[in-house]
Amino acid sequence: MRLKKMELVGFKSFGEKSVIAFPPGISAIVGPNGCGKSNIVDALRWAMGEMSVKQLRGKSMEDIIFAGANGRPPMNLAEVSLTLSNENGTAPEAFKHFSEIMLTRRLYRSGESLYMINRQPCRLKDIHNIFLGSGMGAKSYAVIQQGNIGAITDAGPEERRFFIEEAAGVTRYKQRKKETLRK
Ligand code: ATP
Ligand code: MG
Repeated sequence: MRLKKMELVGFKSFGEKSVIAFPPGISAIVGPNGCGKSNIVDALRWAMGEMSVKQLRGKSMEDIIFAGANGRPPMNLAEVSLTLSNENGTAPEAFKHFSEIMLTRRLYRSGESLYMINRQPCRLKDIHNIFLGSGMGAKSYAVIQQGNIGAITDAGPEERRFFIEEAAGVTRYKQRKKETLRK
């Protein structure tokens, strides 16, 4: 799977609907301090199902909703969609036949939230399952935030094991085993 496109509206500094394309190869995002580069990384993490407000550099989840800027009023919802290309067929079994998978996460100021896969409402767990064992995902090493390299080098054995298992692709099976044993 490969990230192909990100669409944001009402997420942090993105009051206006923005579409960011990630063509094959390396994409670099450049701009002056405070222009929203890290907010794009936060949006990626959030759409992949990040639940830790701290990881998203906020105090409460509501902080990710556009609070108003440059004469634009605050917004009542934030929405981020990720389009993943599945050209190499590495998506989980259930999505094997899709060439593209679109994930959407929405949060209303009231606290209500919504997750969708290909525009069909789903559970947060379904979003997490898409990424398990792929090396992507909110908890994986695929997203390394500003100043966070130290977190990997300083990680304890348990945490480091998670990174290795994710790279080896076994987390997906571990999670399934855990669920089966619970039943
Ligand atoms: P640097 O180069 O310093 O790392 P950056 O490009 O990574 O900068 P970001 O941290 O992505 O910058 O963006 C910070 C900006 O986002 C600030 O101007 C802040 O006011 C704005 N911002 C963050 N949350 C919101 C929000 N909820 N509503 C409106 N603006 C927000
Ligand atoms: Mg930054």
